[in-house]
Amino acid sequence: MNWRPVDCHAHSQHSDGALTVTEVLERAASLGVRPSVTDHISRDAPTRVTSPSAVAEYLDDLEQYDVLRGGEFCWHDALWREIPPETVRRFTHRVGSLHSIRLADHSFFRVFHRDLPDALSPSAYMEAHLSSLESLAREMPVDVFAHPTLVSPSLREIDPHDLWSESLEERLVNALRDAGIAFEISNRYRPHERLVRRAADAGVRLSLGSDGHSRQQVADVAFPLALARSVGARDEDLYDPIRHGSRTGAFDA
Ligand SMILES: [Zn+2]
Ligand SMILES: [Zn+2]
Repeated sequence: MNWRPVDCHAHSQHSDGALTVTEVLERAASLGVRPSVTDHISRDAPTRVTSPSAVAEYLDDLEQYDVLRGGEFCWHDALWREIPPETVRRFTHRVGSLHSIRLADHSFFRVFHRDLPDALSPSAYMEAHLSSLESLAREMPVDVFAHPTLVSPSLREIDPHDLWSESLEERLVNALRDAGIAFEISNRYRPHERLVRRAADAGVRLSLGSDGHSRQQVADVAFPLALARSVGARDEDLYDPIRHGSRTGAFDA
């Protein structure tokens, strides 16, 4: 069988990617990868797709190509809640992201900030990360949770086996399993194997994502694919919207 991996998460010039849609397709073809365009759709991300009408125009453009039509939505921004069902159905898949997390005092913290607020310890940060993820999983009808281990840069210096307790890992895996959301193995924010193995063992579907923005990065899913295989996932079980369907309704009769 002529199986090829799907890159369920890649950016084009519709948001902050360097490549045109045609260039994304060419790059993916050169790597033997099935492409998607999964640009930022949010009022709080670097993108031109910032309104329901802009979402429809984005899909108008993608429908001209032989490409999976994705979108990366910020949980903390309300735009995803405003998109009408007939527009949602035009996506082959949707990806949900925690680019900001909700802290215990209900303020939001942008995860790309290096400096943590005073009094926010790494363990309090991780509690906020998990509780935000649990809300995302309950609220957001997405197919994939992007870069599950994306945290503030200051915390990336901590060994993930210490930053992530096993009980935090179990909460993440349970939330995704209960919601039917796939765990993205990101090439950009690479997860530790223990967490990926826990997700696979719990029956959470795995999804490959380059999160590529440059020609070098787009469609490079070699590391995510190798990690998925190393924890025992079968190639044909890796998330493919056409094979496995989508919560967008795109493949419903
Ligand atoms: Zn992201
Ligand atoms: Zn992204």
